[in-house]
Amino acid sequence: MITIKNPVQLSGMRDAGRITGEALLAARDSLKPGMSTHDVDKVVHDYIVKQGATPSFLGYGGFPASACVSVNDEVIHGIPNRKRILKEGDIVKIDVGAYYKGFHGDSARTFAVGKTDAATQKLIDVTRESFYVGIKKLEIGNRLGDVCSAIGEHIEKNGFGIVTDFVGHGIGEHLHESPEVPNFGRPGRGVRLCSGMTLAIEPMVNAGSGRIYVLPDGWTVKTLDRSLSAHYENTVALTDNGVEILTLIEKDYPF
Ligand code: MG
Ligand code: MG
Repeated sequence: MITIKNPVQLSGMRDAGRITGEALLAARDSLKPGMSTHDVDKVVHDYIVKQGATPSFLGYGGFPASACVSVNDEVIHGIPNRKRILKEGDIVKIDVGAYYKGFHGDSARTFAVGKTDAATQKLIDVTRESFYVGIKKLEIGNRLGDVCSAIGEHIEKNGFGIVTDFVGHGIGEHLHESPEVPNFGRPGRGVRLCSGMTLAIEPMVNAGSGRIYVLPDGWTVKTLDRSLSAHYENTVALTDNGVEILTLIEKDYPF
């Protein structure tokens, strides 16, 4: 069932989204070669708790940390680890969820640690762009497939692989709600979009093929061909006034 949020609920979603987005920025600002993925998680955890919120991921399905921190060919769900040290040129995906006064926010970014090369930067940029290309189609009366297909087309047009085994999702009182939001689809198909929907839209893009596998730890998702992977996610609300990006604190795309 898709839950439609009323104005009071949307206001709660905004608060949760803001804390989520701010926690991500705190993590970004802390990034430097030599720190561990556990250190990144601690920045996220401490920020969320300081706001009086709860990390959505901690204990979710048994996940042992507050952020998913995935490096290079790890796509998503990387488990923070004291022994995993970030080095110059790595790309790191940080996925954060915050639960505040009854609502969840969910957002992810891919950051380069220090300098990266042009090809890697393009992967990061196209992943972010595909989100914005998608939400251009997020209009009352459109179909979900209009959004999903736009995301997928932008990724494929740039020669990258779409991760199809994991998808975005509705979000609200629960971290994962209906509907599923794949990063591919067909225009004109799927549920009709209406005011009050809140979605976590999250393209996962591989430099090579979109095929992935899960490590024996049961969580970490990696690219099958060991190519690099990027992830970009925001929680968005569709209202009578258009699209609101609830987890975006600093503009990162020319509107
Ligand atoms: Mg997420
Ligand atoms: Mg999500």
